[in-house]
Amino acid sequence: MSRVMYLNHQCSVMEKRLLKALRAFGWLDAWPSQAGFLLEEIGVSPEHTFLFARLIKGLMMAAPDFELLGPDSQFVSRDELNMMVALGGVTRNKPGFSDDPNPFQPVAFGGLLEACGSALREDGIILKTRSTLIPASNIPDYEESIQPLRKQAPLVTARVKAVESLSPLVRKVVLSGRGVKPYKALQPAQWVKIFLPTEKPRAEGRAFTIQSHGSMGDELCFEVALHPGGVMSQWVQQAKAGDEVHLSSVRGGLWPLDPSKWLLLAGDETALPAIKSILKSLPDDMLAYVFVEVENPGERQVLPISERVLVQWVYRSAEPSGAPEGLLGAMSSTPFPHTSGHAWLAGEASMVRALRQRLLRERSIGVGGIQAAGYWKIGEVDHRDLAVG
Ligand SMILES: Cc1cc2nc3c(=O)[nH]c(=O)nc-3n(C[C@H](O)[C@H](O)[C@H](O)COP(=O)(O)OP(=O)(O)OC[C@H]3O[C@@H](n4cnc5c(N)ncnc54)[C@H](O)[C@@H]3O)c2cc1C
Repeated sequence: MSRVMYLNHQCSVMEKRLLKALRAFGWLDAWPSQAGFLLEEIGVSPEHTFLFARLIKGLMMAAPDFELLGPDSQFVSRDELNMMVALGGVTRNKPGFSDDPNPFQPVAFGGLLEACGSALREDGIILKTRSTLIPASNIPDYEESIQPLRKQAPLVTARVKAVESLSPLVRKVVLSGRGVKPYKALQPAQWVKIFLPTEKPRAEGRAFTIQSHGSMGDELCFEVALHPGGVMSQWVQQAKAGDEVHLSSVRGGLWPLDPSKWLLLAGDETALPAIKSILKSLPDDMLAYVFVEVENPGERQVLPISERVLVQWVYRSAEPSGAPEGLLGAMSSTPFPHTSGHAWLAGEASMVRALRQRLLRERSIGVGGIQAAGYWKIGEVDHRDLAVG
């Protein structure tokens, strides 16, 4: 569309950081899932990150030649600057985004830009004033051409076959039914949303990792961590054989690993099912460091490890769930190889964020080498994180 580049010196520090995050949504490898963290780092609240993801994904689909540069580029394209004009206008509460005509203004993207700009303003991020560089150009009608972004597959019905205690605070739930046969977790750490039957118009679902499939492939096993409050935590404590649930399709999963690199896995008990499925999938000679935080030694589980896997259990004891200090301390006192590695992190959202920042700062793992997701967040029901895939 624009094919015109400028040095990014003319962008403010905040704009450069915002652009890096927005570009990350449209980039390859690990970048899209890092985008949420980059936005959070400039103060965008997690629930707003989905708006920006929709904006960039929509733009990429509706206008494939939209000039979105690489996240670390020292240049900025005219398309990107126009996008910043539009966003900046809304952050400064200017109706119509800008006095100048803007390529986004008349089209359906206006609605999304307005929402994204308002989200920035709500989060206290005000972009600088600049004028539009090119007059309106054609971005096809977003709503018509690419809605819906993700087609909702129908839910599948399954029944509880058994519930067992794996430890005082973890229950294994086995679901069965004809509908679960096609459920194949092709990658470790894949997950589904489990919905409980409800009288409410909209069923509430929670994400759980597929731990295994049962020998005949007609069972799905999940491991649910108990905690105070929470519909799913309560349900699993009373669930009995024959109870009905509904399942979404399979999502997410571990990105392909480079077998020549070492791997770090870290998380709390909600991440443990995924960590176990990742460990089962590793080549025997892969060097891996595993850090798991649980309530107390009684919550330890047997992990499927080879000789090259080093496991450290961290106990929460008096610390509240979600405090990062325990895992950070264990990671700091572990001598990792100097060669490059990758990492997979999951658990309470702010804990994951702190671990990720520490790894980026101190362990020479690049942003694209860390797969990190907030699996739950203190005080938030059904926390959603862009990075879970
Ligand atoms: C991709 C993905 C995979 C996941 N896999 C698993 C899994 O295999 N096993 C598993 O146990 N969890 C897993 N989780 C986390 C699980 O979805 C959440 O913990 C979920 O919020 C639990 O639902 P709930 O109805 O019990 O609590 P909610 O109704 O969602 O939350 C109620 C309250 O409980 C708090 N809360 C939620 N979870 C916890 C917790 N673990 N400890 C302490 N407080 C909590 C919330 O902050 C909130 O205040 C996964 C999450 C994601 C995104």
